[in-house]
Amino acid sequence: MGDEKILHIAQRLFALTNRTSVQYTVHMLIQTLPDTMTRLAQMGDAAVFEPVGDNPQQERRRVPYQSHSLEECITNVSTPTGKRKILKTMVTTACERNCYYCPFRAGRSKTKRVTFGPDELASGFDTLQRAGQVEGMFLSSGIIKGSVTTQDKIIDTVEIIRDRYNYQGYIHLKIMPGAEYDQLYRAMQLADRVSVNLEGPTQERLDALAPKKDFQRELLHMLQLAEQIRRTHPYEKLAG
Ligand code: SF4
Repeated sequence: MGDEKILHIAQRLFALTNRTSVQYTVHMLIQTLPDTMTRLAQMGDAAVFEPVGDNPQQERRRVPYQSHSLEECITNVSTPTGKRKILKTMVTTACERNCYYCPFRAGRSKTKRVTFGPDELASGFDTLQRAGQVEGMFLSSGIIKGSVTTQDKIIDTVEIIRDRYNYQGYIHLKIMPGAEYDQLYRAMQLADRVSVNLEGPTQERLDALAPKKDFQRELLHMLQLAEQIRRTHPYEKLAG
């Protein structure tokens, strides 16, 4: 069911007009998009794995953790326009890599995996933000079928959020290790912020934490490409 239709039904059910001020509760949203909202609520380990809020130590304390409520996936983040409630989520919590510190690493057979298509994830975010539950998004992903395929799914999701739902607010995107130049450029056009996980300062340190990652080619090169993109497009509004 489309979100417009859901809101329309909600308006009729609750006899609302466009001027009526409504605070949708998470419970109401779970009833309107049950599968999407329930699965978004299970992304709590994303909050642990990718601390981006104003209290990263508190976010980290819960490892390993399986969340069951949507509130647990919403974090306060300082943005250029002030503090915002950010939905922290992932395209998928499945991953083919094996970073030792990560709750989503390959081989953890008991880890519950959740995967979204771009349409579903964009729609779920749109519903939450129009209901006033979140004011921005942080989007990352486990890696499945390589970094390039995964980065495409992240970009597809945000293109839908920006273009179809006309959302102009805060978005922070994670850049996958080894993403391509054009993908990084597109991510920087779409997002307010992009970031790369630099788990260690050298290949040796990286090997001890994330043995399938290449320090120079997949991580450092991403930072160099971002700098190159900023230099090549000095007048374009790009993510910081
Ligand atoms: S690539 Fe990312 S999601 Fe996959 S195991 Fe490493 S840190 Fe976790």
